[in-house]
Amino acid sequence: MEIVDRLTQISPSATLASAEKAARLVAQGLDVIDLGQGLPDFSTPKNICNAGITAISEGHTRYTANSGLPELRDAIAERYGTLYGVEYDRSETIITCGGKHALYSAFQALVEDGDEVIIPTPYWVSFPAQVRIAGGQPVFVGTREEDDFIVNAQDIDDACSEKTKAIILNTPSNPSGAVIPSSVLKDIGRIAIDRDLVIVVDETYDQFLYEGATHSSPLGLGSEAKPVTLSIGSCSKTWAMTGWRIGWATGPRKLIGSMSRLQSHLTSNPTSISQWAAVEALTGDQSAVADMLAAFSERREVVLKQLRSMPGVTCGQPMGSFYAFPNVSGTFNNRITTSDDLATYLIDEAQVVTVPGSAFGRDGFLRVSFAVEINRLQEALHRISEALSAIVV
Ligand code: GLU
Repeated sequence: MEIVDRLTQISPSATLASAEKAARLVAQGLDVIDLGQGLPDFSTPKNICNAGITAISEGHTRYTANSGLPELRDAIAERYGTLYGVEYDRSETIITCGGKHALYSAFQALVEDGDEVIIPTPYWVSFPAQVRIAGGQPVFVGTREEDDFIVNAQDIDDACSEKTKAIILNTPSNPSGAVIPSSVLKDIGRIAIDRDLVIVVDETYDQFLYEGATHSSPLGLGSEAKPVTLSIGSCSKTWAMTGWRIGWATGPRKLIGSMSRLQSHLTSNPTSISQWAAVEALTGDQSAVADMLAAFSERREVVLKQLRSMPGVTCGQPMGSFYAFPNVSGTFNNRITTSDDLATYLIDEAQVVTVPGSAFGRDGFLRVSFAVEINRLQEALHRISEALSAIVV
């Protein structure tokens, strides 16, 4: 049996691999603390769970429309209208099995063999893999630590070629926490309009912002940007619904229509019960989101203070998401020469799981999730600090 090249060349998702590794070690009886996978430690809010339970007891257990429940699609369309003042209707939205599925379908719809897609680094692990699966070629655009990893519009323009089809933006960023300012997003919006490209904007963490940071989109340009913007969102992080697998895309009708055709042959509708729960998530009481943000804010302070006090570590200021992305290159020695080596060392010596920066296209860094209960987080940071003290002279 031969497996096709485009799959043999894809490594397993490093974030999922880190979670599996943590689970394996816990099963062996080790006291492992997982700062790897981005997984809110909170339970899904009660009102949302109850909406799922009601959906089951009222018999909403059959197929829904392929592109999602009309009620949910309308709620998504309304959300973008309220956020950016750009009108969307139901036909310009699709409900998917998590944000990852929306991204996958988008690249299948946009990318022909050999087409290029611009991806700023550090990037979320699945962006380049999904582009490659679609036959495309990722073109990486570096960001600078001293610019808080905020992408430069000119660098994006310089990276464009005749073959460029799309630009991926992720704000707030997983893994760096960078929040792209409105002015930069507008500049990139203009590049996309001039060059007839699509901007795929992953806004999974748009509700988790710190110190007064504000979230924006190329849609800040107004309806002019609508034909070039595909917005991707997810219930997973905002409402602690990772297991429910509900995401969405909002964008040009033609693109959404092709994603819907693909979905009709792939998954059909996402789970009906989860969709009804998602209607409650989007339209119901939002106090749980504010509570989670308050907890993440407190933990972020702790993480930044602790990381910055560790030998060989420097750390910028993540303004969104729930990750810190410290530069750990100062801890390297003749045995530990990469972030992969360091992540392995921290598992072995401290029983703490993190994700190496190499998985996000930036060796020399580690991704540290602070979506972890505060006492466990403090314990993990203490263990990391001890382990680093043993190798940094
Ligand atoms: N997005 C989360 C992370 O980066 C969940 C895992 C995944 O889907 O990659 O850890």
